[in-house]
Amino acid sequence: MKQEKSICAGCEKDRTEHSKKLWILHQQAQLCGLCRKNVIEHSEKLWEMHQLAVEKGQYCSEHSKKENLYPIRIGLGWNVIARVCKQNADKPHDIEIIPINMSCTECSLYLGDIEMKCADDLDGMCLKCFREQTEQTHNWYDIPSALKKEGVKC
Ligand SMILES: [Zn+2]
Ligand SMILES: [Zn+2]
Ligand SMILES: [Zn+2]
Ligand SMILES: [Zn+2]
Repeated sequence: MKQEKSICAGCEKDRTEHSKKLWILHQQAQLCGLCRKNVIEHSEKLWEMHQLAVEKGQYCSEHSKKENLYPIRIGLGWNVIARVCKQNADKPHDIEIIPINMSCTECSLYLGDIEMKCADDLDGMCLKCFREQTEQTHNWYDIPSALKKEGVKC
């Protein structure tokens, strides 16, 4: 029997270029709960990191359960996903919205948008910690912080 060549409907690469797990993920064409992007726009490692962050963020230690998640909009079209907790209070204070973030594995500070998207390359660290760990001083690593400054409009 001839082995049929199969091309991934998601990333259009051959099946052999996927790990078993990645192939299954690509066939499901899921959206990431954290960055709202399709699974094919993640590396396998990044996908796992994002899913773990959602799982952790969804769990509310105050109510000892997994809360509902909703996308919320911060500033100019930056969508983040947030956990919504019901509180024993009158409206509009009956819900509390807690955005889900990834935190740096070194310093525990919240990661920025770009740091989250590159978490697989940065090993889950913020840019500052990553540079300290790897002693990288190349200009390339300044790009994300420059982008951040743009947002502030100074
Ligand atoms: Zn694929
Ligand atoms: Zn994601
Ligand atoms: Zn809660
Ligand atoms: Zn850090």
